[in-house]
Amino acid sequence: MTKYEVLKKYFGYDSFREGQEMLVDALLNGQDVLGIMPTGAGKSLCYQIPALLLPGITLVVSPLISLMKDQVSTLNQAGIHAAFLNSSLSAAQYRKALGFAMEGRYKIIYVAPERLLTPEFLCAVQSMEISMISVDEAHCISQWGQDFRPSYLKITEFVEQLPARPVIGAFTATATKEVRDDIEALLSLRDPVRLVTGFDRKNLKFTVQQPKDKFAAVESFLAEHEADCGIIYCLTRKNVEEVCEKLEQKGYSVTRYHAGLSDLERKENQEDFIYDRKQIMVATNAFGMGIDKSNVRYVIHYNMPKNMESYYQEAGRAGRDGLPAECILLYAGQDVITNQFFIENMAQESEDPETTALIRQREEERLKKMTFYCFTHECLRDYILRYFGEYGSNYCGNCSNCLSEFETVDVTAAAKAILGCVRECRQRYGTTVILDTLHGANTAKIRQYRMDENSHYGELAKEPVYRLRQILNELQVREYLYVTADTYSIVRLLPKAAELLDEDGTMLMKMAKEEKRIPKAAKEKTKTKTSAAAKDLSNEEAAVFEKLRALRMELAKEH
Ligand code: ADP
Ligand code: MG
Ligand code: ZN
Repeated sequence: MTKYEVLKKYFGYDSFREGQEMLVDALLNGQDVLGIMPTGAGKSLCYQIPALLLPGITLVVSPLISLMKDQVSTLNQAGIHAAFLNSSLSAAQYRKALGFAMEGRYKIIYVAPERLLTPEFLCAVQSMEISMISVDEAHCISQWGQDFRPSYLKITEFVEQLPARPVIGAFTATATKEVRDDIEALLSLRDPVRLVTGFDRKNLKFTVQQPKDKFAAVESFLAEHEADCGIIYCLTRKNVEEVCEKLEQKGYSVTRYHAGLSDLERKENQEDFIYDRKQIMVATNAFGMGIDKSNVRYVIHYNMPKNMESYYQEAGRAGRDGLPAECILLYAGQDVITNQFFIENMAQESEDPETTALIRQREEERLKKMTFYCFTHECLRDYILRYFGEYGSNYCGNCSNCLSEFETVDVTAAAKAILGCVRECRQRYGTTVILDTLHGANTAKIRQYRMDENSHYGELAKEPVYRLRQILNELQVREYLYVTADTYSIVRLLPKAAELLDEDGTMLMKMAKEEKRIPKAAKEKTKTKTSAAAKDLSNEEAAVFEKLRALRMELAKEH
């Protein structure tokens, strides 16, 4: 059979998608490959087709049990002999499957990385003819990636113990250079054929909003998209339940998905959505892996996700059919706090505490970049593409920034005041204290730190706080200063700060025109007593924020 016949006979497709054929050919020629394609591009076929054409068995290393199950059942339905070996099997089932594998009954075997170096598995593979190893979700091997799995590091050791080295294919949707390099090095790929398909999804329109009332924002969007189906992602199960219930009450055709539901309910809800029995899916990030629904017209993020990788993957579930679709992110300050809370309480990722600390620090960095996405006034698409290591133009014409009007503002004076204030307090305080000082707040903390004696105290009292934050963020993006990634968010100067402080530097910045509504600024002037941080939040959020702050102070005292 030819590759085209396999494509048609087993998968029912007439032609390859961009890049697939090149990777199939390379693997058939015995060349290692590294395939970097966005989620949904069709990476599985790139190794499944060679697997069927090569003589022996293909092992696929895959990180998630649900992914393995899905793939194997799809393959089985297509009449391909495939199986998975992971902890979802009982000991007896596992042994049986391994026995069948040794008899050569399977063409493709999915295996959990943790199984590779077990004596049982190692012994079994000695008598199998393994032609290819495919490493799916290969970014799991990199600590730069969001899904680092230490057991992926064992793959090379496993390969070395095979009687002959099979050809290796690695696949991922993470295109950052660090991750790419890690994959090649840590899997010891031999002169691999590399394929990076474009990450740009031109049919997706990206929007960031910071609405006062998120639910109202969702409702007004839905009112304009009555006939469409879409996904609403929330950060927590509780949020999912709330949003789903409210929509249900309003008469929407809606279902939900999160890890707190039973297997059965999850399956039913997922199918209701996939088969168009329900129009709207409200879900946590547990929803979507391995789901292929082409007519999702919008993906709304009710909360900002933890990083750009998650965001782009989730948002990317919209518009798989290539028709116009919308990706809307509803930002609130609380989302940062919630994500920070998740990071602080992250499971022990490694037995080594130093590695765990490092992973946590990287998560903080990534959260920061996600937050900047919500604040940038540059083209959102360009921001995304640059994040993933690609270069776009700085105007796409199809994102909320390109579509809204901006003006260039000279923010030199404010920028100087911020940097000056940081310098004068000898870089000891966090963003809130700095902004409160500039704004002239009269809080206990400001008095305690004697910040009311800072020569910049009250210097920017007329600027609304959100603008000060924007400028502070921009100063970070442009590397005049940085904010430590720990819980204190201490503001420190970078060498470049001297250009503004001691030289005649100027700073211009794009700002949204609509944000110039002055009434709010006037109102704020009379209320300079509240904290800048608290002012960005609702009462409820402020309470959570204060609680967290108290908790952090306590923790800090213990150290
Ligand atoms: P990825 O792993 O890159 O996220 P998948 O391998 O899961 O993507 O494929 C996504 C979807 O695209 C699947 O439903 C798959 O059947 C479909 N697909 C893959 N290749 C083709 C093709 N050549 N023609 C049509 N559909 C394809
Ligand atoms: Mg995949
Ligand atoms: Zn744009």
